[in-house]
Amino acid sequence: MSLSVQVKPSQESLPTNIVYFIDESSSHPSSADLPGATLDCYPDHNAYFASMHPARAFVIALPDPQQIAHVLLALRGNPLTALQPIFTTTALAMPLESICDGRISSPRQAWEESHKIVEKLQELDCSALASDRSGALLTLGYLFTRPERALTPYRNWSNEHFYSYPIVEAILGTNQNIHLRLSSMRDRKLLSRGELVDRLRHCPECEGVHLNYVDVCPNCKSIAILKKPFLHCFTCGKVEPEERFLEHGTLLCPNCKTRLRHIGSDYDSPLENYECQDCRHLFIEPEVLARCMHCNSFSEPDKLIPRSVYTYDLTDQGALTTRSGMLQDLFAVLDTVNYVSPTYFMNLVNWLMNLTRRHSDERFTIIGIRLKNVLELNAKLGRHAVAELMDTLAQRLRELIRSTDLTTRTGQQMLWIMLAKTGRPQHQIVLNRILDLKKLLHPVEGIGLDFETVEFCAPDDLSPGETGKLLLARLEGDFE
Ligand SMILES: [Zn+2]
Ligand SMILES: [Zn+2]
Ligand SMILES: [Zn+2]
Repeated sequence: MSLSVQVKPSQESLPTNIVYFIDESSSHPSSADLPGATLDCYPDHNAYFASMHPARAFVIALPDPQQIAHVLLALRGNPLTALQPIFTTTALAMPLESICDGRISSPRQAWEESHKIVEKLQELDCSALASDRSGALLTLGYLFTRPERALTPYRNWSNEHFYSYPIVEAILGTNQNIHLRLSSMRDRKLLSRGELVDRLRHCPECEGVHLNYVDVCPNCKSIAILKKPFLHCFTCGKVEPEERFLEHGTLLCPNCKTRLRHIGSDYDSPLENYECQDCRHLFIEPEVLARCMHCNSFSEPDKLIPRSVYTYDLTDQGALTTRSGMLQDLFAVLDTVNYVSPTYFMNLVNWLMNLTRRHSDERFTIIGIRLKNVLELNAKLGRHAVAELMDTLAQRLRELIRSTDLTTRTGQQMLWIMLAKTGRPQHQIVLNRILDLKKLLHPVEGIGLDFETVEFCAPDDLSPGETGKLLLARLEGDFE
């Protein structure tokens, strides 16, 4: 993707100080071999946050591992310092190791190793990052400034979800909903799945992953089952635990009372079977149930919800979004035009499709509008100009759309309009007016808001068996 982004500030404007966190008793590091750089020393993050001088990089040189962890997490958890290069002078254990940028042995090394990250940071809009409440932009920014890194799940049995993403947790300051947030960023094509790391099964009641698979009686579900040797009486065919045949040292069938003398001709001993100690049910295969260690519910294994665990990488779209700041507020203006949620929209389309199949005089049209270049425009014209364009688009659409029509968005740049009681060829009037908007949305020659459209008219375009959801997915696929 070719883009003209504003020229980055020159190297001179970069901060030249490295912040050291050191114990009062330790000797101060020296910047003798680093002309032009200054070293600022603080006892901990609180002292630094009180001054908040911009820093090029942080070095945590504290003696106590717990203190190191504390400072590291505090720096990553503060939007103003979350993406800065942070080094330690001692080795860290996982998962902390994956949160910091490595171990250094001198201020010079910190300077050199921070170079790439500092350069990348210059491309980002610090004010957008500082006000990023959702943490999404910071998460993307972290990957953007460290291109060789991916969001890698860290396995830990004591973690509620088994896997955590330590850097995301550190940036957000919480482990709540991280899996949801990541998959939402993936839906928005900001992140892509990398390596498949594992597949977990979740409790259908509480989504817990700590499960104990236990053999139970298929009749009463009791766990009190015992494996026993069984005998099979040839005379009557009865199969019972061996102990029930034993009477005064001889074998007597408890059913037909035949004396069993010779194995192979009177009886044989089949494979070991189970007996339930609670209901006395006899069976060959116990049933397996998964007991959730979180909520104590029992589930059949095929009712558990399988979910895969992946590493995540930044996509091109994600990199672009990181550089331009989140654009949700820009798109939100479109949601003011007779907007309904995507689920409601799809259900309604589904219902209308069924209605049209039954009554041939029913008709409706769906027009999809995909904005093609909002992120690029934002990089070229700036946020303000793009906001104005989006405002104009929303206002014009509002004029075109009747109160009986509805809109929804299934992605940041994917807008849908449902025109009620409008079929082919009447839909062409609205479609032409929408296409006419392109001229209006070109404030500068050659640069403007570009979009493409796709349309569906029922009953003409109805395919048998297609649902509303499948239809929108197919139409959106037509854009690719
Ligand atoms: Zn039982
Ligand atoms: Zn018998
Ligand atoms: Zn559960």
